[in-house]
Amino acid sequence: GGHLLEVRDLHVEFRTGEGVARVINGVSYHLDPGETLAVLGESGSGKSVTAQAIMGILDTPPAVIRSGQIRYRGRDLLTLPEEQRRQVRGKEIAIIFQDALSALNPVFPVGWQIGETLRHRDGMSRADARRRTVELMDLVRIPGAAGRLGDHPHQFSGGMRQRVMIAMALALDPKVLIADEPTTALDVTVQAQIMDLLADLRRDLDMAMILITHDLGVVAGVADRIAVMYAGRIVEHADVRALYRAPAHPYTKGLLASIPRLDVRGRELATIRGLPPNLMRIPTGCPFHPRCPYARQVCVDVVPDDLVLADGRTSACHFAQEVHDDRAR
Ligand code: SF4
Ligand code: MG
Repeated sequence: GGHLLEVRDLHVEFRTGEGVARVINGVSYHLDPGETLAVLGESGSGKSVTAQAIMGILDTPPAVIRSGQIRYRGRDLLTLPEEQRRQVRGKEIAIIFQDALSALNPVFPVGWQIGETLRHRDGMSRADARRRTVELMDLVRIPGAAGRLGDHPHQFSGGMRQRVMIAMALALDPKVLIADEPTTALDVTVQAQIMDLLADLRRDLDMAMILITHDLGVVAGVADRIAVMYAGRIVEHADVRALYRAPAHPYTKGLLASIPRLDVRGRELATIRGLPPNLMRIPTGCPFHPRCPYARQVCVDVVPDDLVLADGRTSACHFAQEVHDDRAR
């Protein structure tokens, strides 16, 4: 039993000169071998901070983990001795970011950078590291890989640099790949290519993946489940198809209404009114209530629990079933 990776009731604060921002407020999610979980939310929803907590790369201070667990194969990374922790983070679990350029060193050739990862952590010989580096660059479909080992990051296009970063992440055969907005900086065609690549790698290498994105459009073909985040909470957690068919949280409903659909021509794209809350002053009751078309008095007064619907999904909404069944909005 037990999951490969499990975040349990995580609470994170940022303590700044202006006050305390409650950035993660009881987040729980899990990942099983080989599956892809999409974590969706606007900027400031806490999706990246959760990933940074998993990787142990939060800036401390200002970030303080108040409580919770991050379990990998049953062991809590937050209490594990540092040496064992390092075995997991960066080796069993790897992360890639939106900005490949800042993740790569501009001074050194990319072949050398990938090779260093192998030599340092796996103690490979120079010749073996070089062979493996070419394999990895082929794997991420960099054309003419063997001839590009000596090229520097600026000699690659944005999409190709992203592939280099993915190759570096794969160098250690991770069991979990966290991809934090991996395509956000790229144009639409290249985005689709990178998402296809990640989906293929996930399958071929039997990795689990956490795909963090603000773009519901990139999730559909790739993820098994979606956790939708708002104000540091997961507001809906569902199977991808079930969520697309009929969202059960008004925030998810708003996100879905705001992506273009090919099958509904000429329809005005909706937007969610208002702005995400200031995390130093999260609204009472349901944090989404100032923006919610379904809000009633109870929403202002009472924090909603996670309701479990018949299909097993959860929605943190007092009226989850009603929202799910309402096709009008
Ligand atoms: Fe809207 Fe109320 Fe549901 Fe919150 S609990 S999402 S305010 S209906
Ligand atoms: Mg982010």
